[in-house]
Amino acid sequence: MKYCKKCLQPNTRPGIKFDKDGICPPCRYFESLNSVDWDERRKELDEIVKWGKSHNKSGYDCIIGVSGGKDSTRQAFFVKDVLKMNPLLISLSYPPEQITQMGVDNASNMIKHGFDCITINPAPQLWKKLMHKSFFQVTNWAKSTELALFSSVPKLAIAYQIPLIWWGENAALQLGDLNVMGKNGSDGNNLRKQNTLNGADYRWLLSDEVKKNKVLQYIYPSEKEMENADLKITFLGYFWKDWSAIDNGNFSALRGLEIRKEHPKDIQDLMGISSLDEEWVSMNQMIKYLKFGFGRITDYVNEEIRNYRMTREYAIELVEKFDGKCAEKYIDSFCDYIEISKVDFWKQVDKSVDQNLFKRDSFGKWVPKFKVGVGI
Ligand SMILES: [Zn+2]
Repeated sequence: MKYCKKCLQPNTRPGIKFDKDGICPPCRYFESLNSVDWDERRKELDEIVKWGKSHNKSGYDCIIGVSGGKDSTRQAFFVKDVLKMNPLLISLSYPPEQITQMGVDNASNMIKHGFDCITINPAPQLWKKLMHKSFFQVTNWAKSTELALFSSVPKLAIAYQIPLIWWGENAALQLGDLNVMGKNGSDGNNLRKQNTLNGADYRWLLSDEVKKNKVLQYIYPSEKEMENADLKITFLGYFWKDWSAIDNGNFSALRGLEIRKEHPKDIQDLMGISSLDEEWVSMNQMIKYLKFGFGRITDYVNEEIRNYRMTREYAIELVEKFDGKCAEKYIDSFCDYIEISKVDFWKQVDKSVDQNLFKRDSFGKWVPKFKVGVGI
């Protein structure tokens, strides 16, 4: 395991490749922002807006997937107030056992601000069954739900004949998942190739019991369907110089977004601004840490280092303290929900731990073999 020389990005992130100087692509991208002609880039954005407006067939000229979180809240306001478009918001709602009250309140906050919003609820029993399957197949419960989440927006765009989809961050440029890279920095039509969607293949969801007609909400439109609908997916993050968790969090909190009060050691979040609508994504970040040697704190500090708001030394301290941590109560509630014991939970997680990166201590707890910022 090697770290980027500037930030704390490890080369274990799926799809990443450092350059010959040992620098990760997001660091290079952030450096390049200083020489961007932002007026030119705004013109590029205006062209896309013009295209969206001129292809408006239904009254809505664009569509945005929202979770009521910091990123989507900021995007929605930007599209309505700055770009003067008429967006339809799509929200894929979690089942009652999963969604937090904060998630419900934040979604209501968007509606109060005057947005039209459609909420989709895939059948909860199947949702739970597929989460169980995802957890035991790839030790990532969100593999099935992310299919539904990412599919909901282009599906509704096609159904409502809405030409333009705004998405937030370009994972290729801003995180380093190079599979997503489109024909330019704002092109999101390759979103299906991102690591979490893996080509948007849904066939693994099927079984004798679960036929295709039961998983329609999980099927991402085919490339042909997207082409026929002339759909354009555009990353808005590409047009903002100040896209970061903290900037988006500040913007959205000032517009009524409720944020978390838990300690970073419970949720791997220093500002309380991530995954506001449910608890188990934080738990998944703990699993990600055991698989790849980095969790959500690493992603957060990397942005701060690149923005010159944090030193690499201080970031190492924070990562050592909090990365990969998760409060026991979230593991408990997840096990209760998918109806498994904690012994079974750990049996599955233990199988996925990268033993090149972690070893057990005398209490049987996984501890890193690597040194943060140095590697192994
Ligand atoms: Zn870097």
